[in-house]
Amino acid sequence: MNNLLIRNASAILTGRRGAAARHPGPDIRVQGGRIAAIGHLQPLVGEAQIDARDCVIYPAWVNTHHHLFQSLLKGEPQGLNQNLTAWLAATPYRFRGAFDEQSFRLAARIGLVELLRSGCATVADHHYLYYPGMPFDSAQILFEEAESLGMRFVLCRGGATQTRQLEAELPQALRPEKLDDYLADVERLVARYHDPAADAMRRIVMAPTTALHSTSPAELRETARVARQLGIRLHSHLSETVDYLDAARAKFGMTPVQFCAEHDWLGPDVWFAHLVKLLPEEVRQLGDTRTGIAHCPQSNGRLGSGIADLCALEAAGVPVSIGVDGAASNEAADMQSEAHAAWLLQRARKGQLAEPRYAGGQFEGGADAATIEDVLRWGTAGGAQVLGFEALGTLAVGQLADIAIYRLDDPRYFGLHDMAIGPIACGGRASLKALLVAGRAVVEDDRVPGLDMGELGRQASAAVIALQQRAGVRR
Ligand code: ZN
Repeated sequence: MNNLLIRNASAILTGRRGAAARHPGPDIRVQGGRIAAIGHLQPLVGEAQIDARDCVIYPAWVNTHHHLFQSLLKGEPQGLNQNLTAWLAATPYRFRGAFDEQSFRLAARIGLVELLRSGCATVADHHYLYYPGMPFDSAQILFEEAESLGMRFVLCRGGATQTRQLEAELPQALRPEKLDDYLADVERLVARYHDPAADAMRRIVMAPTTALHSTSPAELRETARVARQLGIRLHSHLSETVDYLDAARAKFGMTPVQFCAEHDWLGPDVWFAHLVKLLPEEVRQLGDTRTGIAHCPQSNGRLGSGIADLCALEAAGVPVSIGVDGAASNEAADMQSEAHAAWLLQRARKGQLAEPRYAGGQFEGGADAATIEDVLRWGTAGGAQVLGFEALGTLAVGQLADIAIYRLDDPRYFGLHDMAIGPIACGGRASLKALLVAGRAVVEDDRVPGLDMGELGRQASAAVIALQQRAGVRR
C-alpha cells in the first residue's frame, strides 16, 4: 500500500536539529505509509511517482492548539479591538451558545480545510463548547470531519465546572457541567476514539478550558489523576496575559505555574497554550518538568497579549510547538501564516530588548532569535513531541509519511536565493503540489478532492448571518 517515489525536490527541510535540518535528497521513497529512503533513488517497477521538481518539501505541520468552532467568528466587530478578557465576553462566549449542529459542523470543516491547505495534517482542537443536555455530539462531528479530510485529530476535551464572572452576565451563558459528568464523558471518548498507537489517527486529551478558572483546585487535581489513569495527556490555557498573574495571586496567593505544580498539572504529558507572561522562576519550573508550550503568535498579537519568549523557554528545556488558536482571535488560522509570524516576532521581541552600548547594551538586534529551521522544527517535530506522536514531525527513514510538498509558483517566491525558506519566510500560502498523510494524498495540485470551495464559502456567509441572528446582534 501507498508505495510512492517523490522525485527531484529542490529542497528538503526535515524538522530535525542542526546539520540534519536539511537533507540534499532529492528523492523520498514511501512504503507502507512510512518513509523508506531519502537520497538519489531509482524508481521501482510499478511504483507511483510525484514529480517534485521546483518544489520544497517539509514534514506536514502539527497544530497543537485550536478552537475549530470559532471558524465562523472571524473578525467579529464587538471583539475586534478588545483585550483577552473583554474579547472572551464579546465574541466566543457570547456566540458559542448560538451554534447548532449544522453551524458547528460547518465551522469545523472550514477550519480543517484552511489548515489542510497550509500543509497541516495533525490538529489538536481544544474544544470547549459543552453544556449539560447538549442536543448534538460535537466530538463525533469533529472526528467525522477530520476523517473525511484524511487528517489526524486530537480532541482536547475542554469544559468547565464553574461559570466565570465574565460569562455569567451574558444572555446565552452556557451552564457548567458537573465534574462527574465531565469525567464520564472523557472516559466515554477515550473508550470510543483514543488510539495510543504511534500511527494513530485519533487521540483524546483531558483539557479543562483554563487551569485557573474552569474548575475548583481540588477538581483540577482530580482531572490530572484521572487523565494519568487513562493514559492520556493534559492540556489547557495558561498565562496568556498579565491577568493570569493577578488572578492566581488574588485567588491562590501564588503564580499560575506554581498553582499548576501544586495540582499535579506539570510534566512531559502536559502542554499549555500561550505562556506569554511568565516570571523567571516559572520558566525554570516549566523547563525542569519538561512541560510544553503551544505558541500562538498571531492570536497573542491580535489580542495584544504579548510575545512568548520561546528562546528562554527552549533553553530552559520546554518542548516548543505552534498552534493557530481559534479563528475568533486569528483571521489567518493556518500553519504557514503562524510560522511566518513566529519567525518575525521572536526576532522582533529580542530586538525590542536591545540597548545602546553606552547604556550597557550587548547586542544590536534579535536576528539570531529564530531561524527558519527552528520555526519549522517547532511547528512539526515540536508539535509531535507535545502530542506524543514520536513517529511524526520529522522527515527521516522509518518516520510516518506525513509530508507537505509546496510548489512555489507565486511571484512572492520568484527571486529567492534559497527555495527552502519560501513557505515560511515569504508569508502567504504556498500552493501544495501534494499533502500526504501516511503516504496517502489528501491534497493534490492544491485541491481537496471532493470539496466544493465555492459552496463552502456560500454556506459560511449564510451561517454568519444565522449566528448573528441567534446571538441577538442582528434582527
Ligand atoms: Zn485558545
